[in-house]
Amino acid sequence: MAQQQCLVLIKPDGLVKSLTGNVITAFSETKLKIVGAKVIKAKRELLEKHYAQLKDRKPQIYEETINYMMGKYHTDRIFALVYQGDNAIDKVREICGSTNPEDANPVSIRGKYGRINSKTKVFENVVHASDSPESAEKEIKLWFAPHELTETVYPTRTETIGSEHVVWK
Ligand code: ADP
Repeated sequence: MAQQQCLVLIKPDGLVKSLTGNVITAFSETKLKIVGAKVIKAKRELLEKHYAQLKDRKPQIYEETINYMMGKYHTDRIFALVYQGDNAIDKVREICGSTNPEDANPVSIRGKYGRINSKTKVFENVVHASDSPESAEKEIKLWFAPHELTETVYPTRTETIGSEHVVWK
């Protein structure tokens, strides 16, 4: 199986519930390599790009999902990680469990720690994980700059605006 990358976001409910350690421990079972990690406050513009498809697929929960990810109900911090290795996407997503925490395997992260917000109806499911190599590439390029990763996971180019910067091609 080919080497893959997978973006993982520990969402604001995961941070507020002090689940960062539990989540990283669960993923450590996979023996995948962490090639990037940071805590960030996501701007609306970034989340709109990240959830561009959700707007078309599930317009009824789009706005509240953006609010959730911007910290309206928990904290405005998100822990972003990039995992790399053989079959990384399936390995990570199996540990995450299904999107709906009520359907998720009870021993998965979402099954154990997720809930449905009774007011907004949004699935507060603790983690996000890329669902295909194409989404992983799109998402990793949105959330990380090349210099923030320990590996050159996608091609880069050097841009000169005043000084030189390495950016995604
Ligand atoms: P996933 O995060 O599993 O890839 P989606 O991309 O479909 O799933 O949805 C993005 C996020 O939006 C979910 O993780 C969840 O927080 C929220 N969400 C998606 N579908 C629903 C739904 N039907 N009801 C409530 N919240 C949802």
